[in-house]
Order: sequence, then structure tokens, then C-alpha cells
Amino acid sequence: MRQSEKGLLLIVSGPAGVGKGTVNAELIKRHPEIRMSVSATTRKPRPGEIDGIHYFFKTQAEFEQMISENAFLEYMHVFGMNYYGTPKQFVVNELNQGHHVILEIDVQGARKVKEVFPEAIRIFIAPPSMAALKERLVKRGTETPEAIETRTKTAFAEMRAMPECDYLVINDDLNEAIAQMEAIVAAEMCSVAHNETVINTFLGGIEEC
Ligand code: 5GP
Repeated sequence: MRQSEKGLLLIVSGPAGVGKGTVNAELIKRHPEIRMSVSATTRKPRPGEIDGIHYFFKTQAEFEQMISENAFLEYMHVFGMNYYGTPKQFVVNELNQGHHVILEIDVQGARKVKEVFPEAIRIFIAPPSMAALKERLVKRGTETPEAIETRTKTAFAEMRAMPECDYLVINDDLNEAIAQMEAIVAAEMCSVAHNETVINTFLGGIEEC
């Protein structure tokens, strides 16, 4: 893939159960220049989740301390009970090193990041259909029926945000979804907006001729 001085900030949204995590994990495996931001949260780890890999698991006091230190790019209460936030330092460092950074965050978080980083690219990962989404939400099976209902409501609210994103990836087939993500990164790397330095070098060259 084409290199540049600064990486792309990719905000990946989409309803729970759509396979965002799988698409992102596979993309990162294939492209070491793409990094995944690890969010902080006060929710309890699910079976198999590892601190520092899936999330930084924090107590409420620890999370609030980070808020007071202005350590988040964005944070919020999701589902009205847990804090979730994107630690700022990692994102800024990686972008400055020319790595692309993926934020896997909800739609409200995506809107906040876009305010601070207007050049961020919003990608929506959608299921093949609404029926497929409903099936995946129920099949996930790690939570109570109440939690599934809350998750379903949130998933539908997330789907309504599709039109405000820059790109739409349909996750029907994993390899196809990854190919679409790769195409987005390749196109954005060639965008005029992302190549200001290169363009100015060319224009400077004209002056010198
Ligand atoms: P879960 O508890 O299932 O891991 O995540 C619940 C929701 O929180 C998902 O929609 C997920 O995208 C969102 N989320 C995870 N990390 C962050 C974050 O750092 N900021 C925001 N705003 N949402 C997040």
C-alpha cells in the first residue's frame, strides 16, 4: 500500500453482531501498518476478553481520573451505565508515525471524533440484511434476554446512522468485506486532501522551473 507521512484515522461503526471486530482483526493481520485503537471501559470483561487487548478495563474512579486529565479523544456513557472512551495519546502517536488507526466505536463517539478530527473517515459496516442482523444479535448468546433487547434497540439506532458515514461496507463475506476496506484505504491515500505535502512539492517544483 502507498505510504504517507501521516496515517489515516478510520472510524468503524456498525451495529453489534455485524462482525466489525472480525473484519478489523483480519485487516490488521494482513496489514501491519494499520493499528487498532484499544478503548477504555468500565464494563466487566466478557469471557475470553483480555485487558489491554480488547479493552483497558477500568474502575469508575480510574476512568474519571483519565477524564480529568483530558486523556480521551472522546468518551461517553453507552447504554446509560458504562463508560467507554478512546485514549488520545496512542491515536496521535500512531498517526504521526504514518500508521493508519482504526477506532471501533459507536455512532455518538464517531460524531465526536469527527468534530475534533474532521479528516477522519467514517466507515459503516452493515449486515447483509435486517433479518441477518436480528439473527446474529440473538445468537451471540453471552447475555440475558434484557441485555439482548437493549442491544437490539441500540443496533437499530446505529443502523439509522448509515447515511452520515463516508463509506458503506456490507459484511456478507469476510474476504469481500476486507477487500472493500482495503479499497477505501487505497482511495483515501490517493485523495487530494491527504496529499497536501506532495502537491505542494510539485507546485514548488513548477516555480523552480
Ligand atoms: P461492547 O460492550 O459490546 O464491547 O461495546 C458496546 C458499544 O460501545 C459498541 O457499540 C462499541 O462500538 C462501543 N464502544 C467501544 N469502545 C468505545 C469507545 O471508545 N468510545 C465510544 N464512544 N464507544 C465505544
